[in-house]
Amino acid sequence: MIRNIYILYEQGLEVLKPHIEDAVEQMMDCFPRHKANYPITTLGNWHSDKAEKMLPNGNILLEPYESVDWYIANAKLKAMEQNRWQTRGQISIDQLYTDLSSDPYCKKIPQWSVLVTKHDLYADGLNFCLGVSKENAFSIVSTARFIDRNNCLDVEGFKTVVMHEFGHLIGLTHEGRANTSEQLGSHCTNDGCIMQQRMDGDFRDITRVRLAAKKLYGLPPICSDCIESGEKFFTRQQAVYDYTHGILHGGRNT
Ligand SMILES: [Zn+2]
Ligand SMILES: [Zn+2]
Repeated sequence: MIRNIYILYEQGLEVLKPHIEDAVEQMMDCFPRHKANYPITTLGNWHSDKAEKMLPNGNILLEPYESVDWYIANAKLKAMEQNRWQTRGQISIDQLYTDLSSDPYCKKIPQWSVLVTKHDLYADGLNFCLGVSKENAFSIVSTARFIDRNNCLDVEGFKTVVMHEFGHLIGLTHEGRANTSEQLGSHCTNDGCIMQQRMDGDFRDITRVRLAAKKLYGLPPICSDCIESGEKFFTRQQAVYDYTHGILHGGRNT
């Protein structure tokens, strides 16, 4: 085992559990040599046993980093400061990114997280975001833009974005790669690949192609350039793992 992959989501999204798991699983299926080293565990609406603290006045304080609720509440607080919560009901993706980047659990034991929120996300200078990721660390995805007027979720469209963000987490479109462009971060330019960027947030075409390619030809959701990048990423991870563990054993034995 090299890294745990943890799936986290807000309360109310339990029904999406199998779909989020399947999306991550399908991406890991593209790397059969490495998949077993990265077990997927769903923690859902996770909180530790010290998530909440009762204040003398009877109010409940959410302890930083100790629950999904805290991450969401902090992103909402930022959105209130920036008047986005009041005007558009959005929460700050930048705050989520900052907080997940300094997660003490992850610092202690490196792990990958996929956090799904039902809130609409915004970033400075953008009306909305579907998600964001940090390589070798985490992905954040919102369901908000996939819910229609009848409160129905476009499950496959949402899954495409989970896969896309997870693809960033595993370094598929690193800067300087062939067949990538640099709009809102680095993206694949190959037709039919889910690592392409849609500036308008409309992943419906890409989702249709993804599903048809899988059904008709059993093809993976990412192109061969992306698979090649992923192979390099996982090989690097393995090398770092072997190196650090080799050193630790050496230190203990001598
Ligand atoms: Zn992207
Ligand atoms: Zn690609």
